[in-house]
Amino acid sequence: MCGIVGYIGKQDAAPLILESLRKLEYRGYDSAGIAVLNDGHITVRRCEGKLKNLENMLDRDPAIGTIGIGHTRWATHGRPSETNAHPHRAGDVVVVHNGIIENYLDLKEQLIERGTKFSSETDTEIVAHLVAEKISRGLDFLDAVKRSLKEIQGSYALLFLNQKDPQRLIVAKNSTPIVIGRGEGESFIASDIPALLDYTRKVAFLEDGEVAEVSVNSFRLFNGKGKSLQRPFKEI
Ligand code: GLU
Repeated sequence: MCGIVGYIGKQDAAPLILESLRKLEYRGYDSAGIAVLNDGHITVRRCEGKLKNLENMLDRDPAIGTIGIGHTRWATHGRPSETNAHPHRAGDVVVVHNGIIENYLDLKEQLIERGTKFSSETDTEIVAHLVAEKISRGLDFLDAVKRSLKEIQGSYALLFLNQKDPQRLIVAKNSTPIVIGRGEGESFIASDIPALLDYTRKVAFLEDGEVAEVSVNSFRLFNGKGKSLQRPFKEI
């Protein structure tokens, strides 16, 4: 179990993500990490241990930007360490994950055969590489995520950010919870409602197999077959 948070809007993302992660810290405290996008460049800060360590790191060395993703980890694959902390990065893409990719060893072997270098022991890192590989072959960010999901088996809430694609976050769900929140000119993503309540009461839950593209003012949703779905936000 991990805690996931995402933000896209006009506020400084890092303090907001930290505050939301604090509400999810019960979900994991092996490590914490954040990725923030600004001016075409993603800054990643990660550290072992509790969220407080990340907070201290960001005090010393802030990450500026109005779009970002964050994570508190409960390790399942790979020991608790900074290198295994999320977000995981491949090329322009960073990802945070809650769950377990069951077929990660097979996929990892295939990626290694194609020349991919891994920097962590996690199951999650393969997902970043799958998506980055598809983007490098010319696929659009959303399509690259959709295609990659067809290759992975297991449980996941996945949240992606691409430094070449600053207008949207991509979210996917299978067997672990993820909720989208809508504010005024801003959108939020979290593993659980308490992380959003300081910012909005308008929420929409993803169902298993669904993928969403979340922008400042809009949200597009697709089922596992790629069919576009409508899901109004509910007031809670
Ligand atoms: N399997 C991932 C890892 O070990 C995510 C862990 C989790 O969701 O608890 O890093």
